[in-house]
Amino acid sequence: MADVLVIGAGVAGMKASLLLASAGRQVHLVESSSVIGGRLIRCEDIFPTMECATCMVSPMQQEVLRNDLINVITLGEILSIEGSIGDFRVRIRKQASCVDPVACIGCAECWNACQVEISNSFEENLSSRKAISVPCAGALPNVPWIDREHCLRWNGDENCSLCADACVFAAVDYSEVDSEFDITVSDLILSTGYQPSPGEVFEKFQWGISPGVFTASEFERYYSSNGPTSGELVTKNGLKPASTAIIVHADGTGSHSNINTMYSLKFLHYLHEKLPDIRPVVFLDASYSPLALEDRNHSKWLTAEADVILYTQMPRVQTTGDNKTLSITCSTADGSFQAEADLLLLGTSMLPSEGTSRFIELLGLQCSDEGFIQKPEPAFSSVSTSVPGIFTAGCAGGPQDIASSVIEAAAAVGRVLADANRGGK
Ligand SMILES: Cc1cc2nc3c(=O)[nH]c(=O)nc-3n(C[C@H](O)[C@H](O)[C@H](O)COP(=O)(O)OP(=O)(O)OC[C@H]3O[C@@H](n4cnc5c(N)ncnc54)[C@H](O)[C@@H]3O)c2cc1C
Ligand code: SF4
Ligand code: SF4
Repeated sequence: MADVLVIGAGVAGMKASLLLASAGRQVHLVESSSVIGGRLIRCEDIFPTMECATCMVSPMQQEVLRNDLINVITLGEILSIEGSIGDFRVRIRKQASCVDPVACIGCAECWNACQVEISNSFEENLSSRKAISVPCAGALPNVPWIDREHCLRWNGDENCSLCADACVFAAVDYSEVDSEFDITVSDLILSTGYQPSPGEVFEKFQWGISPGVFTASEFERYYSSNGPTSGELVTKNGLKPASTAIIVHADGTGSHSNINTMYSLKFLHYLHEKLPDIRPVVFLDASYSPLALEDRNHSKWLTAEADVILYTQMPRVQTTGDNKTLSITCSTADGSFQAEADLLLLGTSMLPSEGTSRFIELLGLQCSDEGFIQKPEPAFSSVSTSVPGIFTAGCAGGPQDIASSVIEAAAAVGRVLADANRGGK
């Protein structure tokens, strides 16, 4: 049986790889970052069960890393893909991490010694990391990598060796170089996921101006016990909030609004957990309610422990006073409403990741209006793409929750195995 390539090691890519391996297929799982787990590992808890995300994902990560049939290639980049179903020829580059994963025990001495601080995009740039680092505590594999774009050795001070000197296991290896190699696979599963909307587009809600305004992805990290404040709920300037609010569909309502509903309900739970004495104000689009029949969580707002305001025009947010308290006003069916908040959470959209956009272009795939991979026969084959032998799983094909991402991973694997049974390789 021929090998299979899975691109992107989020929950969808990991699940697909494990299922393929359990069917006896050799898998190459290429991940562009230094860790596996995707965006799920940025969450503290998982809606709707509110299960601890690490407890859910860590066994899966371990299983992937230990499986002999799964060749995990972190810091990997697909350079080219040629051929067709049954015989795709793929060229891959693996960036040097400059750390020996066998010798390293993840003790943190090297990054504690490094003097170079860089904004940490894994933490939504809310904290910094070192030029040698893991993105957050508990990342897997728990092995740091040297970011040569910022490391002093590659930027004018070739004598810096603070990290290697600090490592008693001699795991740091500055001589490691990038490698390139070819593989041949019968099928590809694209599980390159999504990225959050950048905060910059929410300046009208005082994002970047008031320290109390958070996008959804920022708040997920702020709440996390392994995040920048170790889970302490404070504003970006360190103050404990006395009042809180959520604008559920800060991007406006669209075809994927149910995702905003889902994580806004989770944020309400987070707020109750850490600030039990504060009753949050939740702003909901009045016109969304009748449209929300397919949004199975929407009705939960009816019983939510919050002041739920149905607005007829998108709320306006202004800062008041030196401490940048927020004044939120909106029109309602009865007139108008005004509330003050020190902490405002914005329900922001999920956009195609750079990887998802890149593969649409590289492979000439059809693209949906929102820029995700278009599935041509949604009613019959929710994981097909416009190219035979190339399947999609998870958020590469559009915003969805973890349960749906995992279901799609299983469906994509089913299609790969069915192709083989029909006489493919
Ligand atoms: C704020 C927020 C909270 C959420 N909370 C919940 C929740 O509580 N419950 C729930 O069910 N869902 C939740 N979701 C949705 C959940 O995050 C997704 O369903 C899930 O992460 C999708 O997994 P995925 O594997 O498809 O994509 P991702 O998690 O995005 O993983 C994609 C992987 O592909 C990699 N990649 C990207 N490009 C390339 C490339 N070119 N080459 C190689 N690798 C690449 C990425 O580095 C990443 O590791 C939330 C979403 C948001 C925005
Ligand atoms: S490279 Fe060395 S110092 Fe750094 S985490 Fe690994 S074992 Fe520890
Ligand atoms: S060589 Fe110096 S700058 Fe580079 S990662 Fe190590 S300690 Fe940091």
